[in-house]
Amino acid sequence: MKDKTQLAAELRRIDGKGYGSYKDLAGPYDMGGFILRVDHVQGDPFASPSRLRVEVDRRRNGFTPGLDAEAPTRLALADFLARAFSRAIKKTKSSRSGPRGMGKSGLIEIDSGGQEILRRTAVFVSDDRIEVRFTAGLPARGRTVLGRQAEAMLIEEVPRIVADSLSARALDMAALGEHSRTVEDWTELQKGLAGKNLVSFIADGSLLPRRSGVDPRPLNSPSAVRFQSPPQLRVEMSLPGGRKVAGMGVPEGVTLIVGGGFHGKSTLLEAVSLGVYPHVPGDGRELVATIGGAVKIRAEDGRRVEAVDISPFIDNLPFGKDTKRFSTDNASGSTSQAANIMEALEMGAKALLVDEDTSATNFMIRDRRMQVLVEKGKEPITPFIDRVRDIYREKGCSTVIVVGGSGDYLDVADAVIQMDEYAPMDVTDKAARVAGQYPTGRAPESGGFSRNNSSRFPAAESFDARKGKREVKIVARGLGHIQYGETTIDVSALGQLVDESQTRAIGELIRLYSTKYLKERVDLKDGVEAMARDVAEKGLEAANPRGMGNLAEPRAFEVAAAINRMRTLKVK
Ligand code: ADP
Ligand code: MG
Repeated sequence: MKDKTQLAAELRRIDGKGYGSYKDLAGPYDMGGFILRVDHVQGDPFASPSRLRVEVDRRRNGFTPGLDAEAPTRLALADFLARAFSRAIKKTKSSRSGPRGMGKSGLIEIDSGGQEILRRTAVFVSDDRIEVRFTAGLPARGRTVLGRQAEAMLIEEVPRIVADSLSARALDMAALGEHSRTVEDWTELQKGLAGKNLVSFIADGSLLPRRSGVDPRPLNSPSAVRFQSPPQLRVEMSLPGGRKVAGMGVPEGVTLIVGGGFHGKSTLLEAVSLGVYPHVPGDGRELVATIGGAVKIRAEDGRRVEAVDISPFIDNLPFGKDTKRFSTDNASGSTSQAANIMEALEMGAKALLVDEDTSATNFMIRDRRMQVLVEKGKEPITPFIDRVRDIYREKGCSTVIVVGGSGDYLDVADAVIQMDEYAPMDVTDKAARVAGQYPTGRAPESGGFSRNNSSRFPAAESFDARKGKREVKIVARGLGHIQYGETTIDVSALGQLVDESQTRAIGELIRLYSTKYLKERVDLKDGVEAMARDVAEKGLEAANPRGMGNLAEPRAFEVAAAINRMRTLKVK
């Protein structure tokens, strides 16, 4: 293996040459204390930056085996190191005088995540080593190599970053301890939900509101109100080490969140919906945990739908269009919401999270007057209100639903939480009295949830990843879109995708699904779940043929949801 001196000599040699000579750098270098690997060299200073890796001996760097003996603490350690590496990058950047050339020249970056703690490919921790993937823009002016700048970057900065972040001596080990405890606590909370028949738990003292619609950090204002459970819904949950925490349990069944506009209903539902992930210390939602089977549902007009049985919600479409195998390139608000629910149930959802703000009104409710004016035979929609109990009874899938407008829902609720100036109150009994006092006069429209056969078998030709001369072209475009071959998948309506790196991983996972898990007699659910199990067990590497350091693990629900939205999807 070449060493640091040889790397420096190499950089001096190519100084002033054409950018292509950077390609000679590929390979491993013994940097004294760590190994640097140049995995992929960018084509020019404006292309995606080069991919590098550093590898340290974990024992020698002070990371004792006890730090990450269990899955949650290993996740926490990897996540903590990615964030520490990111901070160390910022530190070197601020001590530097100016830019290192054109385009991405001199930029060092690592995919270290936001408020959620996700498994990602940026940091790999094993029993004997720690490997960190990052990117670097190799410096150039025009297409001319700036060898001296590259030297400062690779010979000076990278070792400083490694020393600052990948050695136990340099790190705040108390903070690592807190990071680990946070993930362990959340894991234990989530595990404890089923035994208490809960969909979600929100600890007293949690801080749910965010800084802004585009800033997911906690609202740091004196007017922020911390969460306090109403006494009727208060439960005590176990944490590791015999500790306990009290808070509000959202029970299984049908739960309404009611209250005036701007009183914090959507903020509560959002916290519940992101409670499927652990959060970083200081987020405010560290002790909010939701069952892994919870799926946020919304209307999504314009989406593609392929052969989904939406007949429990919609039948008798004009011109006799089939709703047992409903396909459309342009779903309406109501048909899209029906498809979103049926697809979630197909994947085994155990809770639907619905906000009236993002629902189709005619999907949610048909009141007495409308029932009389437009007779049932002329209305294809059986509204959600008439199905929500069936979904619980027959599919074991609970619903948490924000309703400010439609009191008809009081008839179908098991629990009613009212948000009042950001404070939750249990108004279940009052709601029952109100429902008795003011009957809606509605005629229920449901005759039970039909035993629909939800197995769908995607056709292999749906997943052509070729584009032009490229054998495989898969690119994430922000959080909301994936370019897959010639087609673009719109995943912007998936409210539980939180990181562009998850979106990127979904693109790769669709490819993996189509090449390894898509089989003649295996339906979409079983195929995607088998893949998700393998990924949970072995990590994302199987979906990472190009060794990217910017993939984060999505849930099976979101992978299936992306497949379901492919404009090229064909189901047999
Ligand atoms: P609703 O859905 O009931 O109309 P939102 O959940 O959208 O209300 O909240 C309205 C506003 O109040 C948002 O700007 C939100 O950030 C803020 N907010 C929500 N919960 C709290 C809280 N606990 N403390 C302070 N502000 C909050
Ligand atoms: Mg709202």
